[in-house]
Amino acid sequence: MSEKDFEFMEKAGKDLKRGKSKEFICPLCGGKAYAARARINGHLHAGCKKCGIRVMQ
Ligand SMILES: [Zn+2]
Repeated sequence: MSEKDFEFMEKAGKDLKRGKSKEFICPLCGGKAYAARARINGHLHAGCKKCGIRVMQ
């Protein structure tokens, strides 16, 4: 995982509880990004429509 991916994921997962989703400003491109955390296992997935980054944890 690159440093940018890590930075993106950190911001995506911040203050995000299980079973919740949110929108936030992408730290890489300033576009609209989204993140969701699975209720069952707490896995995080997030992406940005503008720059196309996608991460899963
Ligand atoms: Zn972006």
